[in-house]
Amino acid sequence: MEKDKKQKNRRERGEFDLKPIADDATFRFSCHPGISCFNACCHEIDVVLTPFDVLRLKKKLGIRSDEFLVKYTTMQTYKDSEIPLLKLTVKDEKRRQCIFLGEEGCSMYECRPTVCRNYPTGVATQDPTAGQSAQPFFIIEEDMCQGHFEGQNWSIPEWKANQGVAELDELNKPWLEMIPRLKSLRLKDDKDQKLNIFIMVSFDQDTFRSFVFESSFLERFEVSQATADLIRKDDDELLKFGFKWLEFVLFGEGPIRPRKH
Ligand code: SF4
Ligand code: SF4
Repeated sequence: MEKDKKQKNRRERGEFDLKPIADDATFRFSCHPGISCFNACCHEIDVVLTPFDVLRLKKKLGIRSDEFLVKYTTMQTYKDSEIPLLKLTVKDEKRRQCIFLGEEGCSMYECRPTVCRNYPTGVATQDPTAGQSAQPFFIIEEDMCQGHFEGQNWSIPEWKANQGVAELDELNKPWLEMIPRLKSLRLKDDKDQKLNIFIMVSFDQDTFRSFVFESSFLERFEVSQATADLIRKDDDELLKFGFKWLEFVLFGEGPIRPRKH
């Protein structure tokens, strides 16, 4: 009991044992509904969302992205920066249970966010304000998690494949690569406007859809008919297109350019 309380306090203070893991190393782990600590990790938690997490979750819920953002998320910034950080909200400020935690466990298990799939692994470069690490992955060890004492040995790629993270990593990659570069916008006068566009494209995909198809966007930017048809019918493609357009808006780079009149 005392140990549980201590661990809870460590979690509240954001203190974990983070053990760097080499590329060719393995870790032992198993997580399943019968385990004594089932769902303990869904309390006192910060679930940071990627754009494709938001897209999957709002689709599963059958709601628009703007409604999803209001009902289920909270927008913060990375420490000592103005880089937006979107997190799932919590149900109970005291116990800080994830909004999607139900009686039977995660109510969104099939489309649970990337950070939940990765657990107990983490990426050292997830914080864009931190420097590069020679050892990019680490294992999160918390006393309450019994999963470290069960199951088979996994390499990081094996765990990612088992948890369905590899596809999400690939889809989010161009966006994740953009995040550390947002720091360079700090001195630009039009920073706020750029950050608002970044937030719309990244997380409010239905508003971005309206922006593309219900404004003069397609007249102003060089977008082929084939691309316009593709992004009109496919939400994943629209988001991938959005990442490319962000490269232009934020850094003046990338394949999407204004039309020459
Ligand atoms: S989304 Fe699901 S798995 Fe992730 S913290 Fe919430 S309840 Fe747990
Ligand atoms: S084994 Fe670890 S990850 Fe699985 S439910 Fe328990 S605390 Fe959570």
